[in-house]
Amino acid sequence: MKIRMPLLRDSHTHVSFYAALGAAADLSACRTAAAALALIKKRPGPLALARGWNNAYYDLRGAAFDRLGPAVVCNVSLHSFRFNAPARAALKIRFPDIVANIDDQAWVENNLNRVFGLFTAAGGAEAIPAYMERLAALGVWAADDMLVSDDEAALLLGRRYAGRARLWTEPDVYRKLGPAARAAIGGLKFFTDGALGARTAALLRPYRGGGRGLLLHSEVELGKLFKLAARLTGRAAVHAIGDAALEQVLRVLERLAVPRRSLRVRVEHAQLITQEQARRARRLGLALCMQPNFSGDSACYADRLPSAYLRANNPFRMLIDKAGFVPGEDLLFGSDGMPHGAAPALQAALFPPCPGQRLTLGEFRAGYCLPNLEAGWLDLKVDEAKRKVSVKVGGPAAAAGRK
Ligand SMILES: [Zn+2]
Repeated sequence: MKIRMPLLRDSHTHVSFYAALGAAADLSACRTAAAALALIKKRPGPLALARGWNNAYYDLRGAAFDRLGPAVVCNVSLHSFRFNAPARAALKIRFPDIVANIDDQAWVENNLNRVFGLFTAAGGAEAIPAYMERLAALGVWAADDMLVSDDEAALLLGRRYAGRARLWTEPDVYRKLGPAARAAIGGLKFFTDGALGARTAALLRPYRGGGRGLLLHSEVELGKLFKLAARLTGRAAVHAIGDAALEQVLRVLERLAVPRRSLRVRVEHAQLITQEQARRARRLGLALCMQPNFSGDSACYADRLPSAYLRANNPFRMLIDKAGFVPGEDLLFGSDGMPHGAAPALQAALFPPCPGQRLTLGEFRAGYCLPNLEAGWLDLKVDEAKRKVSVKVGGPAAAAGRK
């Protein structure tokens, strides 16, 4: 079956962060510590950056890691990190708090934007245009940057990519921005829990091996964050992955009863949302921004999630068929950059591990694509028998990527 559809609007990614990480080693294909160490070792420069480490397969600690030059590694979930001994020595003057607390997962979850700042300090906003072109070549024309971390990135994205980039940032970064950068920010983003990759997504029932993850705020604090968003930007994007985090968000919003005209709320990820929670979310008028590529967590996190959670992850059929969410209206799709691109997004949406995660092409298009073919298009070949999608990017976007 051959189909043409518009390019993607990735409604949840981290343009400025991934652009700054452009020079980092990509460990996402590594399945052993030896393979990861070999890739990190090849990085030139005084500080080797790496991303894409998946702790379901291996850890990075100990003598072999410390024998490399200074190296800092970011987990595929972007929620946990490993710094080797030479990196700690090299960074402790400029980033003393981060070096002292990087192994304290609760501290990390509460200070993620500062840790991101350490990574982006190495890159800077000048890497953004080349990154936007790379995204275009992968079939992603427009994107939401969920954590713009400084004035330079906000102004560049807001001016040069007006209409293509929507900008979000966290409350403490927002306060530090100048007036022009603030005007470019569309909404406030904040976290309520961590991530499955770091075993910190907040669950009602425990992880295999114990622990229920982390709730980052009390209900009172979370209520204050929503009120702040209503006052400053009128929009909030709230990260909630586990069913316990979703429960907290719903309870707080039900109690606050802020009118929709003064605050529009989007829930980011909502991976383990239950049917009862989905109905309450609809009643509150919340939108969900979800990642078809996280359907794969049902296969790769069997080491940490009980099987009921594996089956309940990314329940798109329940959300659309039973709770009444409508793709493109109150159900939006994005990638979180794990990875970027139309091909992995379509593959995960059409051929996920669990049947309840499958999206139709029409639903994918409504929730993930631009309205027309102006900026370019995707030519798909869908092979149902082999459960495989292939994608070719065409039009202006493909030309931009070739430059
Ligand atoms: Zn994110």
